[in-house]
Amino acid sequence: MLHVDVMDAHFVPNLTIGPPVVASIRRHTNLYLDCHLMMDNPGSYLEAFREAGADGCSVHVEVGHTGELIAQMRELGLGAGLVLNPESPFELCEPWLGEIDLLLVMTVHPGFGGQSFMSEVLPKVKRAREAIDARGLDVELEVDGGVGPGTAPAVGGAGARLLVAGSAIFGHDDPVAAAREIRQLAASAIAGR
Ligand code: ZN
Repeated sequence: MLHVDVMDAHFVPNLTIGPPVVASIRRHTNLYLDCHLMMDNPGSYLEAFREAGADGCSVHVEVGHTGELIAQMRELGLGAGLVLNPESPFELCEPWLGEIDLLLVMTVHPGFGGQSFMSEVLPKVKRAREAIDARGLDVELEVDGGVGPGTAPAVGGAGARLLVAGSAIFGHDDPVAAAREIRQLAASAIAGR
């Protein structure tokens, strides 16, 4: 899948991609477009992202209105994801766990690429994995921020199954080889759990 980092210059200081760019990406690929909405008011844009070709959207639990936003994503036929910032406890997402398709745990403070991985977030990833498994839920667990060959084993070992890597892939001379290496390292850690 392609993970698209949408930043609105309000929820985070940076300004990146909006629906027109998602529509342009859509014309070039059939890959699942996983849109991470770092926005104060994602509800006003969900329909536009859907129309642009997003397959799933994830909204931050910190912006509130979580129940309404999940319902809106469902109504639009979008995969429904929730995101937790590094300082947000897992408990904020737990009540919604049975109603979402994806839980995204940030391992950097959102807003800019190229930041260092925060290993202190790993216990939260483990906790989320245990909760998902204990309830037998079909929820993808995704980690975003500072993921590369050096951190992929810890992320996979903590129970994440989707790893978002930006700089580690796009900053590499051979992006395909970089993605393959990260995938293999995570897979070995998952197999060893
Ligand atoms: Zn992201």
